[in-house]
Amino acid sequence: MTSATVLRPAAAFVTATSLDEALAVLTEHGDVARAIAGGTDLMLQLRRGELAPGVLVSLGRLAELAGIAEHETSTGPSVRLGTTTTHRMITGSARLADALPALVRAAGLVGGRQTQTVGTIGGNIANASPAADLVPPLAVYDAQVVVRSGDAERSMPVLEFITGRRATALLPGELITAVDVPIPAGRTASTFLKVGRRAAMEISIASMAVRVVVGDDDIITDARIAIGACGPKPFRAVDAEVALVGNAPTREVLSTAGHAAVAAASPIDDRRGTARYRTQLIPRLLARAVADAVAQAATVTDKGQTL
Ligand SMILES: Cc1cc2nc3c(=O)[nH]c(=O)nc-3n(C[C@H](O)[C@H](O)[C@H](O)COP(=O)(O)OP(=O)(O)OC[C@H]3O[C@@H](n4cnc5c(N)ncnc54)[C@H](O)[C@@H]3O)c2cc1C
Repeated sequence: MTSATVLRPAAAFVTATSLDEALAVLTEHGDVARAIAGGTDLMLQLRRGELAPGVLVSLGRLAELAGIAEHETSTGPSVRLGTTTTHRMITGSARLADALPALVRAAGLVGGRQTQTVGTIGGNIANASPAADLVPPLAVYDAQVVVRSGDAERSMPVLEFITGRRATALLPGELITAVDVPIPAGRTASTFLKVGRRAAMEISIASMAVRVVVGDDDIITDARIAIGACGPKPFRAVDAEVALVGNAPTREVLSTAGHAAVAAASPIDDRRGTARYRTQLIPRLLARAVADAVAQAATVTDKGQTL
């Protein structure tokens, strides 16, 4: 075996049989302990020697942390996705395809079949890659990440949870348990676009999620734009959103919004693409995503039903 292929063994591997047990082990071992869900990111990081946790706590057996459930809140219906809900479970949900299509589209573009079968929503968020494909759609849907420690629960918007490249607000002893996503109401539509070296199986060079609410004459009355892989973490292009609101998506409006989105980005050169290429992609993705979303919204009634 070469040193590159040596899997550095963790001091202990605990297969938690309950959420309380997982939290107790994480609390006991503090920052030397690490959760493992599908392992698609973590195993690579261990193999590369980027991480050397003393204890790995597997969440794989915790049925209570997987699944998709809809519930009513004071502000309307919302979907709770358990943290170990896999990309495949997301793409297989007819309800999510209807309510949160940008999220379903993103999950369907994560890696290949194998990665989608074991990779989880919680792992995608906690890994905090600038290119994490589920994060831009979750941001445009105003998703909240639910975090538990031994005796407390807190939740925060996904872009607050991710604090930087590979950095999160997660404290030692805490776990993501779920992601809450309000279901958009009214004449709203959303989409997700991704540019990779191949369509799927490939980390994004740039990605974008767009959600719009559209009134009469295609006037955009509300807009959310979130961009991935063009900065240290996914971000909302707020000035671009402002440029869209109150307008129909004419060529001029899209161009203004595209420039504003570029100004919000801080892309870098890496082995997947150059900063220059990413800068060129942003306005193109924006124009296509907004046009697609506005066209889709034309097929939705004010009550959110598809015509
Ligand atoms: C071949 C390949 C292709 C890929 N392609 C893509 C792609 O196209 N797009 C994309 O976005 N990603 C891609 N990925 C990355 C990865 O598959 C996803 O990010 C996946 O969703 C990670 O989930 P996981 O369950 O495997 O996470 P794990 O590897 O188990 O964990 C990842 C990180 O999250 C932490 N973690 C996991 N669950 C929790 C929790 N509940 N609470 C706190 N911390 C937690 C772990 O400690 C670890 O730090 C790819 C990976 C591979 C190997």
